[in-house]
Amino acid sequence: MLSRSRKITLGTKEWADSNVNCYFGCSNNCRYCYAKKMAIRFKRKTEKTWKIMEPNLKAIKKGYLKRKGRIMFPTSHDITMESLSSCLIVLKKIIDAGNEILITTKPRLSCIKLICNDFYKKKNSIQFRFTITSKNNELLKFWEPYAPLFKERIEALKFAYHKGYKTSVSIEPFLDEDPYTLVDILYPYITESIWIGKMNYVFSKNKTPKLINFYNYIDKINSKENLLRIFDMAKNYDNSIVRIKDSIYNFLNKVNLK
Ligand code: SF4
Repeated sequence: MLSRSRKITLGTKEWADSNVNCYFGCSNNCRYCYAKKMAIRFKRKTEKTWKIMEPNLKAIKKGYLKRKGRIMFPTSHDITMESLSSCLIVLKKIIDAGNEILITTKPRLSCIKLICNDFYKKKNSIQFRFTITSKNNELLKFWEPYAPLFKERIEALKFAYHKGYKTSVSIEPFLDEDPYTLVDILYPYITESIWIGKMNYVFSKNKTPKLINFYNYIDKINSKENLLRIFDMAKNYDNSIVRIKDSIYNFLNKVNLK
């Protein structure tokens, strides 16, 4: 049963109290990227330049104090081999100030190995939140064209788990009609939570006849019927681990209230 009184907190507020980023743009260039949409709207980037990652020198050089609540890093770029050294500098300052941090990334195994090794003594301050939206590489290549494929992401999850780090996964946006086949694969390597959310935004450009099927497929898997099925199936899992994101609650509440 959906609750009408559930407080809806969309986006990163569901997970952390504040965010830190140290690059402008993101080379993954996901087709559903909200940060890209905002950067283009406010003329910080264009459709073409979003994928060029530029260091935010101010954010890299400044000091970080202890903040109230958990910090999420990064939220509008990723940790890639190109950005890793600056990300490590920022992470060290945030962690050394006594903060708890949620590291959100479409993980590159080599980056995760270095982070795990560098911060091993502070691992209790860190939770990884790996974005793994599908086990189907064809879907990953289309929606997240320059992000790692499934094998690398799950290897990164296993590595962090076996090193004793706190691990969680975001399946947002879910790209498989039934995201629970992916949940079952991930589950053994999760110490905290798995979040399932829907795609909220897509760039409307380039819907050529060849590509239209990808967009139509998202409409299909985001139907009320499928979202209700996903919502119901969560009851088969420990609800402290498998969590439905507000993007799904919000949508279902809206359609149910009509
Ligand atoms: S990884 Fe995140 S910030 Fe980067 S393009 Fe994809 S959605 Fe945007």
